[in-house]
Amino acid sequence: MEPPTIQWINELKSSFLNQIYEADGHLVYEEVAGSLLSEIKTLFGLEEVTLYKWNDWKQQLFVEVSTNPGYQSSIEDSYILCIDFESLLDKRVFYRDFPMKELKKYSLILPMMDDRRTLGLLAITEKNGTNLLRLGSEDWEEFARECYKLIQAASSVSKIVAEEKRYKQLFRVTEKFHSSMSMDAVLGEIISALQEVYPSFTYYLLLSHDNNHENLPIKDLEYDSDNVAAMQAYVSGTIQFEDSISERRSVLYAPLKGKQGVYGVLQVIAQDTLVFPKNEVEFINLLANTAGSALENAQLYQQSKRLISDLQLINETSHRLNSNLRLSETMNYMEEQIRKSFKAEEIGFVMITTAETETAVLGSTDFFQTAAARKYITYVGKKISKEKDSLFIGDLSLQCPEKEIKYRSIMAVPMVQSEDLRGFALVMHQEPYYFSFEMFKLLQSLIYHSTLALANAILREELEKMVITDHLTGLYSRSYLDERMQESMKLDEEGTFILIDIDNFKIVNDTYGHQTGDDILIQVANLIKTNIRDSDVGARWGGEELAIYLPRVSLEIGVTIAERLLLKVEQLSTPKVTISCGVSYWKQSRIDSAKELFRRADEALYRAKNSGKNKVLVH
Ligand code: GH3
Ligand code: MG
Ligand code: MG
Repeated sequence: MEPPTIQWINELKSSFLNQIYEADGHLVYEEVAGSLLSEIKTLFGLEEVTLYKWNDWKQQLFVEVSTNPGYQSSIEDSYILCIDFESLLDKRVFYRDFPMKELKKYSLILPMMDDRRTLGLLAITEKNGTNLLRLGSEDWEEFARECYKLIQAASSVSKIVAEEKRYKQLFRVTEKFHSSMSMDAVLGEIISALQEVYPSFTYYLLLSHDNNHENLPIKDLEYDSDNVAAMQAYVSGTIQFEDSISERRSVLYAPLKGKQGVYGVLQVIAQDTLVFPKNEVEFINLLANTAGSALENAQLYQQSKRLISDLQLINETSHRLNSNLRLSETMNYMEEQIRKSFKAEEIGFVMITTAETETAVLGSTDFFQTAAARKYITYVGKKISKEKDSLFIGDLSLQCPEKEIKYRSIMAVPMVQSEDLRGFALVMHQEPYYFSFEMFKLLQSLIYHSTLALANAILREELEKMVITDHLTGLYSRSYLDERMQESMKLDEEGTFILIDIDNFKIVNDTYGHQTGDDILIQVANLIKTNIRDSDVGARWGGEELAIYLPRVSLEIGVTIAERLLLKVEQLSTPKVTISCGVSYWKQSRIDSAKELFRRADEALYRAKNSGKNKVLVH
């Protein structure tokens, strides 16, 4: 007859197999182990069977599963400290003589261990009247060995099931990653996936350049940090561990690695764990790698989106600049673009004038017209002239500790044309480190692309100013006349304006040729010059139309001068021509403008032409 041990063991095994069949893939370790204990309880007619698990790290025994229904609520205080547990147990069976006072209440202690591992012990309480000693200690040892194997099997089978769940999770997460183009969504997904799989661990994302992710456990990854393991993971792109015995925890650092680089480090903190189990490390590593490539995709996508909008800005700006705007319009446009794109507070275009050290602020925000702007212009101007390079200052107050600095973030880009420094664009904000390096790069290309257009606009305006005399007649240019009139209307009490047009000039041209036409123009111009004073302005208004401005001259005298000129032209010109004049007048008591003065004279001239020519009419 077979010894009864074999029979009991077989019964245990078959009930264990039944469990697995019935569980249909939803195996939970605690349930399998629990029913194993219940089976043992019934087989021997016992009071209680409890599995104590050994925690090597804490050197503690604690209740893992028990047939005692209240065990789960008292699990917290079931921990028993035990030094040198393994040699105490030593694969032996104890009947009522286990040398630990906390376990004295049990009738029988069975070791759950083999040569390689120590799982813990099975503690049994017998019912009154059961005689556990009907089996010899060798039989109990044999029984203990088999129970140990079954518990091991329950644990490994349920691990496989858990593993499968994890990989399903990973698959689900991966799918989500690749459907997302937002960095935030990817990072959030990593954390929630991990929290679901390992709820007892703590997670942080260490990112090198953080950009405001809300509600995510993100820490800065600093290059000079003393967290060597994190840095090592980031730099080497391999998983790193840090076990702290004093803090009783184990920390894992998994790099978030894509194809082109490492995008950060995932920190996983496991309390009360000596080492991370191998299969968990593998899972976390896989997740980190997947997240790395997803982050890479999201970053590339965001980068390319930004690049496109940057290009659009540059393109649009160059286009506008090349459409021959006036300088002031060009400057206003640039200022507006920079304000919009960089959310800058102050923007100035500082031109370096011929005197090299002197500067002139062209288009800019109002601040640049104040004296307070001087120190910024001087500081940046000196640096740019010396270094011939752009400036990107995160906090100006660090560079100028002795001065009071309102605008701490500074970007300045030189405007260089044909290797000459023409000036610089100065962009500022009060908040330190306000501008990003990407913004700086964009400002650089924006300025590089617009310097030529700006320089041209400046040149054109300079030229217009420079040309104050008309080449053919030697009279003043229209812009000079305009300037002098504006000036006079600000300073003087009154003034008279005469607009002159040669009569039938087309016929003169047609009859004698253009050359003679020109000559007559010069004759009339000379007559004007000799008939006015130095303080008066004789100008070529355009074509064969001429003009005279008489500052501080009354209308009466103005009309006299016009009529005298009319007579002189008729008498002295060869071939003989006549002129018509329109006269207008202003005085300080009336609101008036140079433009209005022109308009009135033009109207008078029109009437003179329509009423027979060769006459002076007043508006
Ligand atoms: P009106 O009496 O109505 O002024 O007749 P007009 O022929 O003078 O007519 P209008 O003012 O329309 O024509 C001006 C002409 O003067 C046309 C243009 O060819 C000629 N002209 C304009 N500027 C110059 C110039 O610099 N030199 C010469 N030779 N001719 C000019
Ligand atoms: Mg004309
Ligand atoms: Mg004419």
